[in-house]
Amino acid sequence: MHYFLGIDFGTSGVRAIAIDREGEIVALTRSDYDIRNCKTWRSALFEVITNLPEFVRIHTRKIVIDGTSATVLICDHAGKVIASPMLYSDACEMAILERVTDIAPLHHSVASATSSFSKLIALTTTWSQIPEEFYFLHQADWLGYLLHDRLGVSDYHNALKLGYEPLSLTYPDWLRAWAKAHPNVILPEIFAPSTTIAKIQAKVANQLGLPKDCEIGAGTTDSNAGFLACIGMGKPTLGTAVTSLGSTMVLKILSDRPINDLSYGIYSHRFEHPACGCLWLVGGASNVGGAVLKQFFTDVELRELSDRIDPHIPSALDYYPLPKIGDRFPINDPHLMPRLEPRPQDPAEFLHGLLESMARIEARGYSLLQELGASPLQQIYTAGGGAKNPTWTKIRNRYLKTPMQKPLETEAAYGSALLAKSNFEV
Ligand code: ADP
Repeated sequence: MHYFLGIDFGTSGVRAIAIDREGEIVALTRSDYDIRNCKTWRSALFEVITNLPEFVRIHTRKIVIDGTSATVLICDHAGKVIASPMLYSDACEMAILERVTDIAPLHHSVASATSSFSKLIALTTTWSQIPEEFYFLHQADWLGYLLHDRLGVSDYHNALKLGYEPLSLTYPDWLRAWAKAHPNVILPEIFAPSTTIAKIQAKVANQLGLPKDCEIGAGTTDSNAGFLACIGMGKPTLGTAVTSLGSTMVLKILSDRPINDLSYGIYSHRFEHPACGCLWLVGGASNVGGAVLKQFFTDVELRELSDRIDPHIPSALDYYPLPKIGDRFPINDPHLMPRLEPRPQDPAEFLHGLLESMARIEARGYSLLQELGASPLQQIYTAGGGAKNPTWTKIRNRYLKTPMQKPLETEAAYGSALLAKSNFEV
């Protein structure tokens, strides 16, 4: 018996999913954690593993962990975390961003207030008085370390926002030069997601009831694991896309070439697949999405009002439903005002206008990705809270004119479990 374990450290909690050789889910566990407190990362990691049934734990062959992208920390040689982690959503001050733009090339994707590289500069500025060397790690790297005891390793998904070049699989010259000038900072060595880093430490295996030869793979990010969960590990088709309708609206399309355009917040992850070699996951994120719906409706109201909407009749209302000023994709304008007027009396009519307008923005997003060179859109999977709304799906269908597929799974932990299995088989 062989089982493969994926563990997802997402924005809202921790989930572990164990799958068998056929990809069937055999166990799922959950735990809460406080993302600002690394002690709770450790307790949640150990809890989701120990809560798995014993028959699953003793036959677990490999584990892959995904974490929130651009949640980072620094730690010493003993793995002790120095200072609090900086979270995916933490934005660095203007002064830090100015330093980043002095170091990185013009228009590089790291020149954003939330990039891992900006956080590295912020952390090293704060901690420059410490003489000893320290490691800079992403959330998934440090969690992997707790299992395999190797510091200083990461994967090219997590390392993208640090400035790592996924095309040439190297740190760029400007980043190497910066690292040379800061010898007390140890940047991680980068591997493909799921590459076996080491076997689990014996004492941790004993504590968790895992086999001593259980392998720990390099990690990935929660959104890439989520993409994989939707499409599964079968041979992927170019132009396969996943729209995530959560608090925000995130589009990702599988493409034969990378596209990076900082002005639209478009970036590309390397996506290696045993059946098709190196492809690219090209994505962009808009601030429109469920957060705006939540400002006006409860989940129950969303369900009831959606049932009253005829999705085949277009709404004449033309909104740009932002929760606050500014969007980056598909309209790149930090001053873009939310447009939520005129507001009809009937809440169902208002919701119809919101859903219709977001469908229009999604279609514009996919057109933009293709205009910039992404592979032509072939099929769309939908993840997130909005995927549960059949009325919205029908409205989106009118604009997207692309087959909508049912995701295999939507839990990111399932995608990480698939990664653990795939690499084990190769
Ligand atoms: P995230 O993980 O990004 O916070 P989720 O994927 O959990 O978000 O989705 C939550 C969002 O889904 C909420 O903002 C909510 O407004 C929206 N949502 C929930 N139910 C529905 C529905 N029936 N139709 C459309 N949106 C919905």
